[in-house]
Amino acid sequence: MSKKEKKQRTLKQILLAALGKAWLFWPPRLAVKKRCKHPTRAGWYVCEMNPTHIVEKLDVDHIIPCIKPSEGFISWDHYINSRFVADAKLLQGLCTACHKEKSKRENQERKLQRTQTKDTGTTIIVQND
Ligand SMILES: [Zn+2]
Repeated sequence: MSKKEKKQRTLKQILLAALGKAWLFWPPRLAVKKRCKHPTRAGWYVCEMNPTHIVEKLDVDHIIPCIKPSEGFISWDHYINSRFVADAKLLQGLCTACHKEKSKRENQERKLQRTQTKDTGTTIIVQND
């Protein structure tokens, strides 16, 4: 796909990207990075899901996802409040591999939720692309 053909971003995508930048400065996120610092190796972190993972890049993850698979996107207020949590205890520092694993599980759950109709709760077969 050429650059010209690239789909224009929706307002939602633009706002999510901006919130992602703001997230980098959120104090509880910084507290998690501090908490995960390797005791002796400067610039390295210890993964909280598997402490044998010692990494240079730490992802700060929400233990409870900001968008719960069972609920989906509700509103901006709801999303912002659940993303910008006040307490670092609600967050965990993960290595990229553990974070990917967790996201994969959550996305599968989301996909599963989408295939169920809201009113009847019956499952319909949806073809994935
Ligand atoms: Zn890990």
